[in-house]
Amino acid sequence: LPRRFAGSEKSVWVEYIQLASEYNPLNLGQGFPDFPPPKYATDALAKVATGENYMIHQYTRGFGHPRLVAALAKLYSQLIGREINPQTEIVTTLGAYEALYSTITGHVDDGDEVIIIEPFFDCYEPMVKYAGGVPRFIPLRLKSEVKGRLPSSGDYVLDPNELESMFNTKTKIIILNTPNNPLGKVFTEKELVHIADLCKKWNVLCISDEVYEWLVFKPNKHIRIATLPGMWERTLTIGSAGKTFSLTGWKLGWVYGPANLMVNIQMIHQNSVYTGVTPIQEAAAIGFETELPRLGTDECYFISMPKELEKKRDYTVKFLSDVGMVPIVPEGGYFIIADWSPLESRVDINSEKDKYKDYRFTKWMTKNVGLQGIPPTAFYSVAHKPLAENTVRYCFMKKDENLAKAAEILNKWK
Ligand code: PMP
Ligand code: GLN
Repeated sequence: LPRRFAGSEKSVWVEYIQLASEYNPLNLGQGFPDFPPPKYATDALAKVATGENYMIHQYTRGFGHPRLVAALAKLYSQLIGREINPQTEIVTTLGAYEALYSTITGHVDDGDEVIIIEPFFDCYEPMVKYAGGVPRFIPLRLKSEVKGRLPSSGDYVLDPNELESMFNTKTKIIILNTPNNPLGKVFTEKELVHIADLCKKWNVLCISDEVYEWLVFKPNKHIRIATLPGMWERTLTIGSAGKTFSLTGWKLGWVYGPANLMVNIQMIHQNSVYTGVTPIQEAAAIGFETELPRLGTDECYFISMPKELEKKRDYTVKFLSDVGMVPIVPEGGYFIIADWSPLESRVDINSEKDKYKDYRFTKWMTKNVGLQGIPPTAFYSVAHKPLAENTVRYCFMKKDENLAKAAEILNKWK
């Protein structure tokens, strides 16, 4: 194994997807919806697949299928408040994963420092290391003790002084993820302005992973850091059709940002992937074309879906707290973190051999109770894993009947 890959051999996804297929639990582990995507999207794909334009089954433009980049440019020009050039300021990718990979690899040089906010989507750390970079971690911490109510993801903040101390002349990039996976934190304008000011002061780029951009619960608002003064020039924003249209299997993502930075992403993309899947991109373009005229209205999926999801969040918060866990109420995204330690006496925690307790808890639950969650220490650096050992992550982007089943399973067990 090449040295730069060491330590990244085992990802939580490989292990827990395997576990789920072995034990067949009710699966609130890996994040994906268990209900159908919007009908216009699947209809579009069917029509594209069997339609007369057979050339749609051949290679398309490498940096992004023309119809899709045109639709994305229209959408984000409105959202960002500046004219985005579909040819030079957007690249479409194989999921947000490849967007992250091409963006990180295209900008990180040997020894460059990359600031990663914890908890973080786990692939950030290995991707930075593969590129020769040095990850520097800063955890979101509970602001002050919460009494008389449940904690919210908004109670978790970066210490402003600690954040400032992370920046130095070697800092190349900060990776931001809002709404955050797994915590569900939606960064406030004030928090983003502080990050932006530090980026400008230290001439640092911001990679903003906004795959859950539409999944925000009231009264929180998704703010795109690229819209803050002086930030367009230094921000690369990542999105995902999988999250936007609830069809994670399409594995279609994108990055947008200023042309002088996009060329670095184009270079990695052209030499590793070259071109994305044509029919998927065509169908996603039709999806965006369907939503563009009704953006912001109640008919728009980007508005109706988070409303539906908010009910699922509330239901999940309730059944987790009813059973005795302490959930952190998420402001966005489709995951919830809960403290399970009040129920520790009900778990044979030492029957599993893993180093971290959350791994032992989640494996024991999968095998003995039939409910799968994800161990949140997977989203922390080694130094900070102890912060998450008493917690579990559940995905609530599920049919109501399956959330009810999860509640039933937990009630029977406790
Ligand atoms: N970033 C975050 C924060 C995610 O949760 C995911 C979900 N897998 C991704 C990126 C990757 O998205 P995709 O499935 O489009 O590759
Ligand atoms: N983003 C999803 C999650 O966090 C899927 C991750 C994956 O499949 N690697 O669960």
